[in-house]
Amino acid sequence: MPKLCVQCNSRNAALKRPKNGAMICRECFFELFENEIHETIVSNHLFKPGDKVAIAASGGKDSTVLAHVMKVLNDRHGYGLDLYLLSIDEGIKGYRDDSLETVKRNRDQYQIPLKILGYKELYGWSMDEIVQQIGLKNNCTFCGVFRRQALDRGCEQLRVDKMVTGHNADDIAETVLMNILRGDIGRLQRCVDIITHDDGGFNIPRAKPFKYTYQKEIVLYAYFKKLDYFSTECSYSPNAYRGHARELIKDLEQLRPQTIIDIVKSAEQFRFHKNETVHDDEEHESAMKKRTLTKCIRCGYISSQELCRACVFLEGLNKGTARLALYSDGQSRPNRGKQNEVQAATLSSTSVGESNVSSAVTSYDAVQNHIVDTTSVMKKSTQDKSLEW
Ligand SMILES: [Zn+2]
Ligand SMILES: [Zn+2]
Repeated sequence: MPKLCVQCNSRNAALKRPKNGAMICRECFFELFENEIHETIVSNHLFKPGDKVAIAASGGKDSTVLAHVMKVLNDRHGYGLDLYLLSIDEGIKGYRDDSLETVKRNRDQYQIPLKILGYKELYGWSMDEIVQQIGLKNNCTFCGVFRRQALDRGCEQLRVDKMVTGHNADDIAETVLMNILRGDIGRLQRCVDIITHDDGGFNIPRAKPFKYTYQKEIVLYAYFKKLDYFSTECSYSPNAYRGHARELIKDLEQLRPQTIIDIVKSAEQFRFHKNETVHDDEEHESAMKKRTLTKCIRCGYISSQELCRACVFLEGLNKGTARLALYSDGQSRPNRGKQNEVQAATLSSTSVGESNVSSAVTSYDAVQNHIVDTTSVMKKSTQDKSLEW
């Protein structure tokens, strides 16, 4: 006999909630999922009426669900937001060109205007061309620096007040763990902030409405709502370190689903002492303190150096010395602080909703393990693979 939904006690349960194991019906799942995100938005004052908000849209499941939920909540609760979709075309054939087609359909489905900015038009180089020159190693670092700036430029052109990204609780838990493992106190401090102000760029705040939302629930929501999203992994993406952090968290989640939210909540409670320097990082620390923001002399982007990171990389690409540019951004100081920045850039490259080296497996399992009626899902969810930037 089918089990009744523990929430409404009237309809049959359709899934086991990944977050807490509750057997609930589809309708109650939608309601709980949307209400929890609404609660996150309201209690953290993410927006104010009249705000123009860009949704960073890659066509992957996180950002597609984000666009859908933002639209639903904006209409339902009268947030008064002016929504835009903002996509970056890195120029990766067979990946980004296809995922952008998905975003274009989302634009029509949700009636939200879309802006696409391309690496080629902004920088003169597509990722395919960059990879041809620098190879597969470290290309994510380039891509991350360029994407971050491209998103900022898009926000600037759209004149938005805020940008929202599809970072979910799993992404944030991974980032917390990675920052602990690397001893990157600065990033550890900032990575759980629900709104971040970039210390470079055009200072357009970025908000994460999915901060407490489980990735598996995003997959289930997309699946049950039959949302149109793109599910192929970036051809150049593997970030081995994040992949390991992800695997570890997935293993822990299996034993205890609460783990993900606990990591995020723990990190929120960390207290950092201002005057404590970390081991041999004093030079780096004081350099960080001295950072004053100025404009890049070449492109005008806000930067702490004469040249912004993107321009340093571009100079390397144009001179054919791009590999060197990876380890120097205007000063030749190959110390640990620099390495941290390079690693940090890698980290931020993965931070705009790049979820998943392994989510091909994860999302398929997520659907299978949490749906009561598995037979129909088995047929449909095999195309449900990975993600996005
Ligand atoms: Zn129900
Ligand atoms: Zn520049």
